[in-house]
Amino acid sequence: MATLGAGTLFPQAAIGRTASAGNPDVVVVGAGAAGISAARELRKRGLSVTVIEADNRTGGRVFTDTSVFGVPYDTGAHWLHYREANPFVDYGLENGFDMYRAPDDERFHVGDRAATTEELQAFQAAKAAAVQAISEAGRQNRDVSPADVVPDLGDWSLTVNLHEGAYEMAKDFDRFSCADWYTGEDGTDWYCREGFGALFAHSARDVAVELNTRAETIRWGGQGVEIDTNRGSLRARAVLITVSMGVLASNEIRFDPPLPDKKQEAVNVLTMGHYHHIALHLKDNFFGVGEDGYFGYRITEDSDSAPAGFVALVNAGGHGITYCDIGGEFAREMSAGGVSDMHDFVISDLKKAFGSSVEKAVIKSHTFDWTRHRLTQGAYASAEPGGAWSRAELRRPEADRLWFAGEATSIDDWATVAGAHKSGLAAAAQIVETI
Ligand SMILES: Cc1cc2nc3c(=O)[nH]c(=O)nc-3n(C[C@H](O)[C@H](O)[C@H](O)COP(=O)(O)OP(=O)(O)OC[C@H]3O[C@@H](n4cnc5c(N)ncnc54)[C@H](O)[C@@H]3O)c2cc1C
Repeated sequence: MATLGAGTLFPQAAIGRTASAGNPDVVVVGAGAAGISAARELRKRGLSVTVIEADNRTGGRVFTDTSVFGVPYDTGAHWLHYREANPFVDYGLENGFDMYRAPDDERFHVGDRAATTEELQAFQAAKAAAVQAISEAGRQNRDVSPADVVPDLGDWSLTVNLHEGAYEMAKDFDRFSCADWYTGEDGTDWYCREGFGALFAHSARDVAVELNTRAETIRWGGQGVEIDTNRGSLRARAVLITVSMGVLASNEIRFDPPLPDKKQEAVNVLTMGHYHHIALHLKDNFFGVGEDGYFGYRITEDSDSAPAGFVALVNAGGHGITYCDIGGEFAREMSAGGVSDMHDFVISDLKKAFGSSVEKAVIKSHTFDWTRHRLTQGAYASAEPGGAWSRAELRRPEADRLWFAGEATSIDDWATVAGAHKSGLAAAAQIVETI
């Protein structure tokens, strides 16, 4: 492997005007929301930075595709969560994007008919009971799973698990910690009609990135750090690692020396949840709800006690695409079967609700499988029961040379683009102070 210096695999000309490939102060690994915000901040504060990204694009888990359906389709992040503390909403408003608040229009089925008022009330009451039990345990800092504290919800148990676990956390009730969950902020959701990924890409265009450049080994035992990539090696004073917990846990990046035990343990308990949009382009107003409305239904089937069902965001942004979202263990299992299994499952459940007309209504379908995606290996991370300590541990730098940022390190808006962005800013500020 070539060592980076003048005239190496990273010629200065190949790098954008603000990058510094020679021996930068900091190498940022990953050009998702965390890596981009960190790089911009580090440069603003006078440090030289090289950002390396294994993929052929920036954005990581926030990406708007327009090639599949010919209209904006967010393969990953779509909601701009917690508007009150989400800088991307203001960025969109200031830069001519069509930003709007998420409406709440919903159609909910029990079998092949609309739910009755009593059924809807029973569902709401069951959800409220679950959220109250999880919140109460979280408030008491109990590092136990929702499965340990949520009361028996009878007929609504699987449906609530889907809505509050798999759909929100990308995990079932037995796989995350109430104490960790409780640290997350909540607020109003907004949308960007052009797609969250398009908005992010616009915001990131000022940051030069070395694409198709994968970190393979990070040597941090001596002075500074050395990063071996598929395109050569880089030396720097510090490295900021922003890859997902899925990538870190899979040992795709080798650390020499290995990560300290406590850090490795944090990586091991901050596990990835699984979550996919099974996107359908449907004719007409199939669900009879407005743009960005929801379709849900009572779940009666499980797969090893994980709810086997989906929640749909209908006609997202008015572009005709419906995101049928599966999460948790069921999403992980479906990933093993491939995207055609996911499609078949959604169509089969839609037929139970609406009859066979659904098949004629589908123009096209697509799923991006985040579990199989080598550069992510899951959707987003949360602490396993007993692991609520792990985010703080992950944030802690090692030897002032090895730094971590990304959604999993966020203090209060983990699992979001905004949280990843803020974690990058925070890490950059600390790096500047330290080195
Ligand atoms: C299906 C899905 C739906 C979601 N929905 C929402 C939502 O509605 N709203 C919301 O706010 N958030 C949502 N999220 C979460 C959100 O997308 C993430 O929290 C956020 O984008 C993570 O940003 P990040 O910078 O931490 O990580 P990433 O975006 O994963 O960035 C890390 C980067 O590192 C790169 N990389 C990996 N390995 C290497 C390597 N060895 N060398 C170099 N580069 C490497 C990756 O390619 C990637 O670009 C969703 C996520 C998924 C998957």
